[in-house]
Amino acid sequence: MADPASVRAAAVIVAAGRGTRAGGERPKQWQPLAGRCVIDWTVEAFESHPAIARLIVVLHPDDIGLMPSRPGLTTVAGGATRALSVRAGLEALDGTGTTHVLIHDAARACVGARVISGVLAALSVADAAAPGLPVTDALWRAGGDGDDATVAGFLDRGGLFRAQTPQGFRLALILAAHRTADPDAADDVAVARAAGMDVRITAGDPENLKITAPEDFARAERILRTAMSDTRPDLRIGNGFDVHRFGKGDHVILCGVRIPYSRCLQGHSDADVGLHAVTDAIYGALAEGDIGRHFPPSDPTWKGADSRIFLEHAAGLAAGRGFRISNIDLTFLCERPKIGPHASAMILSLAAITGVDTGRISVKATTTERLGFTGREEGIAAMATVALVAP
Ligand code: MG
Repeated sequence: MADPASVRAAAVIVAAGRGTRAGGERPKQWQPLAGRCVIDWTVEAFESHPAIARLIVVLHPDDIGLMPSRPGLTTVAGGATRALSVRAGLEALDGTGTTHVLIHDAARACVGARVISGVLAALSVADAAAPGLPVTDALWRAGGDGDDATVAGFLDRGGLFRAQTPQGFRLALILAAHRTADPDAADDVAVARAAGMDVRITAGDPENLKITAPEDFARAERILRTAMSDTRPDLRIGNGFDVHRFGKGDHVILCGVRIPYSRCLQGHSDADVGLHAVTDAIYGALAEGDIGRHFPPSDPTWKGADSRIFLEHAAGLAAGRGFRISNIDLTFLCERPKIGPHASAMILSLAAITGVDTGRISVKATTTERLGFTGREEGIAAMATVALVAP
């Protein structure tokens, strides 16, 4: 298994073809798409991915001047076949300290960061990985062709995938494979398989289409324009639930507010069931586990701790990730003590700890009609919902 810190990934974008199936006078990678050239979109997808340190663009010798080199991007002249062009790109990476390479067709201009990341993640445990889409349509074998075609047989689609790129490899292995490969190999997975490598299949994306036919341009343009206009904020919802049982005492602490009562709540910390629920809701929205993960009850440091520090930590984590807390909704489930008279004080306390406006904080309570442990007044339960928004 590769240590992520030792992975230095590069991408080779293959754009040396003269493909004319897409129509037009120029090869498809140089045709306009959503205001730029096809290849500009492809290059940007890899340039903007944080894990790609170096980019090689393999061009037809006649096209070398069309794409100026810039920091992190090198142009290389391709060969007579796709395989020879890929090899030229791989040779340019030899000796650069690159450990892994993703090889991508320029015509897949809509490739997204998720597909690229999926291949890179698989390369931390495998020597080779490539995205594929499971075949979901029934497959027919045709008799005859054109308008006279008829269904002559059926193929089992089970276990069949549509291959996509980028196809990712440990650089030393795929370079060695290409140096002895069939120059007419269809793609780099074929080269890798011929060299005996196992290739993991990662998640493909229907939008990662290969621009081949003229109508593909319209679809690719729709995909890219939708992605460009997607400025929706990142909204996260989290929920938290907590219970503490009653014990001997003369007050409870709810949301940092001391409430005189004939019993106390028992717990490792100050047993502030309200703050615990809100804190867990924030951790939940961030997919960051729960209080126990960040403040293990096995650690005596937190014995009797003021639960405010848990909420401060969760709120700080959210802020550090660029989220603000949009609102907090907290519900207590108990017969007693009565929450209503203290709800305003609790809202002020939550506002002071989190920095959220009081108008965006709700504290309410319900009984459970004397049913269950809360109905028997054995303890207090609290449930919270929190929304985080970025930016
Ligand atoms: Mg708790």
